[in-house]
Amino acid sequence: MSTFEKTNLNRVKRIPKRGHYDKDTIYPIIDEALICHVGLIHEGMPVVIPTIHARIGDDILIHGASTSRLMNNSGERNSVCITITHLDGLVLARSTFNHSMNYRSAVLYGQGSFISDNDEKTRALEAFTEKLIPGRWNDARQPSAKELKATHVVKIPIDLASAKVRTGDPSDDKPDYELDVWAGVIPMRTIFGKIIPDPALKNGIELPAYLQEYANSKS
Ligand SMILES: Cc1cc2nc3c(=O)[nH]c(=O)nc-3n(C[C@H](O)[C@H](O)[C@H](O)COP(=O)(O)OP(=O)(O)OC[C@H]3O[C@@H](n4cnc5c(N)ncnc54)[C@H](O)[C@@H]3O)c2cc1C
Repeated sequence: MSTFEKTNLNRVKRIPKRGHYDKDTIYPIIDEALICHVGLIHEGMPVVIPTIHARIGDDILIHGASTSRLMNNSGERNSVCITITHLDGLVLARSTFNHSMNYRSAVLYGQGSFISDNDEKTRALEAFTEKLIPGRWNDARQPSAKELKATHVVKIPIDLASAKVRTGDPSDDKPDYELDVWAGVIPMRTIFGKIIPDPALKNGIELPAYLQEYANSKS
């Protein structure tokens, strides 16, 4: 299945032409983001928690301390809703009403369960590390048995999903195009800053090549 079913839950109602349900649109939105927001119900109250995520196939993975509310509310086959947003630009129209933003966002639904198998858990932790900095997993010290035990990993198969994407110029009401008001798009992007070595770094440790390439590719 390369496209998610459209239901009452995930159907984009306003400006439906901006709604997308195919994995080719949704998965790159997930993969580009370094964090997501997980919505869950805790003792009857909606709670939304930001966290790091990774995707393996059709599963979203999140991890955290075994004591955390995020882990314990998402890992017991509870329903969660995950959102991801990339802001691509401010859209300045001639009227304040038609001001907008260019964006790519995704909303995902599923039920989480804990990964208990240690090999699968280790592969998940590798996926988190490699998503942040490809090449890092094999360079840094990998988790000890104690660290592995203290970390919960929750796997959430994506049952349903939607994306909404806005691109392009402002969309003004026809008569407003005659106004003497500037209109256009201010593009936005997230960039990494200059790398700061740890002051406690041992002498003689150079910046790894994979980190330099990564920083360059993201700037
Ligand atoms: C950066 C940004 C800024 C926005 N600013 C505003 C604003 O100021 N006011 C406003 O009304 N709307 C804003 N939106 C759009 C907003 O996210 C909803 O799309 C909007 O409220 C219309 O929802 P709806 O009534 O169509 O669907 P709803 O009934 O709210 O949702 C139905 C289903 O459609 C899907 N869906 C809805 N919106 C999105 C989305 N953005 N991404 C992926 N799936 C989605 C979900 O699966 C959802 O359950 C913004 C979106 C982004 C990304």
